Amino acid sequence: MSKICVIGTGYVGLVTGTCFADLGNDVMCLDVDETRISKLNQNIMPIYEPGLEQVVSANRKAGRLTFTTNFEEALEDADFAFIAVGTPSGVDGEADLQYVRSAAEAVADLVNHPIVVVNKSTVPVGTGDWVADIIKKRRAGKPLEFSVVSNPEFLREGSALNDFMKPDRVVLGSTNRDAANQVAQLYNTLRCPILITDLRTAEMIKYASNAFLATRISFINEIANICEELGADVTEVATGMGYDNRIGRAFLDAGLGWGGSCFPKDVKALAHMAVLHGTQPQLLQAVMDINRNQRRRIIFKLRKALGNLNEKVIGVLGLSFKPNTDDIREAPSLEIVHLLQNEGAVVKAYDPQAMENASAMMKNIVLCDNPYQVAEGADAIILATEWNEFRQIDFERLHKAMRQPIIMDGRNLWDPNQLKEMGFVYFGVGRGTHM
Ligand code: NAD
Repeated sequence: MSKICVIGTGYVGLVTGTCFADLGNDVMCLDVDETRISKLNQNIMPIYEPGLEQVVSANRKAGRLTFTTNFEEALEDADFAFIAVGTPSGVDGEADLQYVRSAAEAVADLVNHPIVVVNKSTVPVGTGDWVADIIKKRRAGKPLEFSVVSNPEFLREGSALNDFMKPDRVVLGSTNRDAANQVAQLYNTLRCPILITDLRTAEMIKYASNAFLATRISFINEIANICEELGADVTEVATGMGYDNRIGRAFLDAGLGWGGSCFPKDVKALAHMAVLHGTQPQLLQAVMDINRNQRRRIIFKLRKALGNLNEKVIGVLGLSFKPNTDDIREAPSLEIVHLLQNEGAVVKAYDPQAMENASAMMKNIVLCDNPYQVAEGADAIILATEWNEFRQIDFERLHKAMRQPIIMDGRNLWDPNQLKEMGFVYFGVGRGTHM
């Protein structure tokens, strides 16, 4: 059993702390957000993540998992300090490291015993060295025995617990092999490949992985757009490609593009890093451009179908950036709603989990209790997130409620032929004649 302090209780920190507690460690999770910690101390989850509440509750009861805003208490006797704070985009696309810096400073100021600082936040290559430097300089008069290990996180919101407990791999980077081995021991019971590298390589593995996944999605979206012009169906193209073992089927779903708290900021940050160091990230630039255009294309199609959008009522189904999360950071829905409202449309929307977050970020949007309320008087419906509950929708009821039965299936979730037979005008993404 190890004593672990997790700094930051967002999607990554909370899941990391909870899972390490579940693996038998003594974990204290720390956050500067008092509301968040007070909620967690009442077993109220500050985020929606399937299964999380039960595991948090069980481990709190077992006394292995505690939450605090008190840095001294959290860092006292900790063998490991995991940094899992946000690294949002700065003004120029660079990763904003102010939260990582303050976490590193807290360790420097408050720890007086040997400790391994593990960085789980996604940070620019070189940040591990920078964190070590911050700690060293602040402790110049009273050196601290510490090591920095980079341990990038690959979990996906919506399946975070499972991803943490059954990872494809764990990546650890450090200049100190012993420290990396100590962190490896925390993961040993998961029986997954553990790759130990130097610090910078580990940091780059995270960026390269996210950029590659975003590239696959932008690639298939570009193919989808060509399919639309040439009468081919991208869903079958992706299936046909995916059977090839060299390619695989994952991340080949054409749609409204990638969003969320990671891909947009990480691709931007990687491109920014590249430019700062004198290289031209042409592919990354194209990947971002294609993604931005993908959201605009749907507005273009809608305008073509409806004439103009002024005073048209447009329903949006799904607001989160993907199903099974309440996270709407950089969700395609944000830009789509903005573009619709900009052209004078009235926007109604429903999401199974993201309504609270959406109401804070989307102004003048009519939030509804279900898809049928959204459809009431709508001139078109855009499916923006492929939540499971939208698979089993009562299309007859939807059709009756709408003023004009136009469906923009932004995730290629529905069967175009079935909808057309029911009298809908159907537009998918890259679905040949059904585009
Ligand atoms: P988040 O915004 O959900 O949570 C960050 C938390 O850190 C907040 O609760 C904030 O109050 C807290 N915090 C900020 N400064 C602090 C400080 N000095 N001390 C204590 N707490 C502090 O962020 P997230 O989505 O969990 O992401 C964290 C990091 O992990 C980011 O670098 C992100 O890129 C990376 N990551 C995220 C995911 C994901 O799916 N969300 C997946 C892999 C990696």
